[in-house]
Amino acid sequence: MRPARALIDLQALRHNYQLAREVTGAKALAVIKADAYGHGAVRVAQALEAEADGFAVACIEEALELRAAGIRAPVLLLEGFFEADELPLIIEHDFWCVVHSLWQLEAIEQARLSKPLTIWLKLDSGMHRVGLHPKDYHEAYQRLLASGKVAKIVLMSHFARADELDCVRSDEQVAVFQAARQGLSAESSLRNSPSVLGWPNVSSDWVRPGIMLYGATPFGEDQAVAARLQPVMTLESKVICVRELPAGEPVGYGAKFITPKPMRIGVVAMGYADGYPRHAPTGTPVLVAGQRSQLLGRVSMDMLCIDLTDVPQARLGSTVELWGKNILASDIAVAAETIPYQLFCNLRRVPRLYSGA
Ligand SMILES: *Cc1c(COP(=O)(O)O)cnc(C)c1O
Repeated sequence: MRPARALIDLQALRHNYQLAREVTGAKALAVIKADAYGHGAVRVAQALEAEADGFAVACIEEALELRAAGIRAPVLLLEGFFEADELPLIIEHDFWCVVHSLWQLEAIEQARLSKPLTIWLKLDSGMHRVGLHPKDYHEAYQRLLASGKVAKIVLMSHFARADELDCVRSDEQVAVFQAARQGLSAESSLRNSPSVLGWPNVSSDWVRPGIMLYGATPFGEDQAVAARLQPVMTLESKVICVRELPAGEPVGYGAKFITPKPMRIGVVAMGYADGYPRHAPTGTPVLVAGQRSQLLGRVSMDMLCIDLTDVPQARLGSTVELWGKNILASDIAVAAETIPYQLFCNLRRVPRLYSGA
């Protein structure tokens, strides 16, 4: 059996969820869209269900997968419905529903619904992706109430730059939100992971942690609360071939690495078809036989090469950690010029093995 696999530590996941609640004192929707950022949405939801205030996903397809697996907790659809014909299913399964656009509001007004909805009314406070314009916000709220089709409304918005700790934009967005919600007495929800970790003064009845649940920092710099996160996923494999090369020999596709001296090279069963980033360059850290080493040459589809020259204990069958508790996914993301979110979401082909359930 191919030795590539992703170990998922559900105990660490619960620790990270509790951290989000502890540092905010708020109710927390665990964001498990995109198959829980590659960690497996059903298993993650099962591991959190006893304590979680609810879950958030991107679409009804993801929400239905949770219900089919027996998850009874509240599930928020972060983009609401894409077509009005989803409304009966939203009612049937008690999903909570974002309204981010006037067309969704109109669809609700026109729908015949057997039960009232729980709506999270989204304001565009400055990100300019989705969300109602501040000038339309009050009216949308009043129209939802007047429709008679809504049992509860939560006021929400989303930060564009909360991962930039010295950027004033998040404060500006909070100010826009506070102004737009003046006079509306309802719960609020503003905070994603970087805001939970790095912006202690933002008040929000509900928080929406995603990446932090999985133990990766959203920041490009060290941050005290993020340092308390525990990595959940360990992507590992084994050395499947060892070779000694003299100086001057190329390694891998395109001869992107040439041995500057005699070297010992290990080939690892892991490639970009597993989600390991093809753009990780020579020098990207790996852990082999318990010791830090580095990637050499181009990552190929199913294999990559690492340096064993100074790791004498490494041999055929040695375990290699590509990211996890020792090699942080955020460090691999920096090396490959991406973000840990994308590394996790790109995971495929490797079996996931769960512990700590
Ligand atoms: C994905 C998402 C989140 C979670 O973001 P993280 O940065 O992963 O914490 C929160 N809110 C909304 C609306 C989202 O789409």
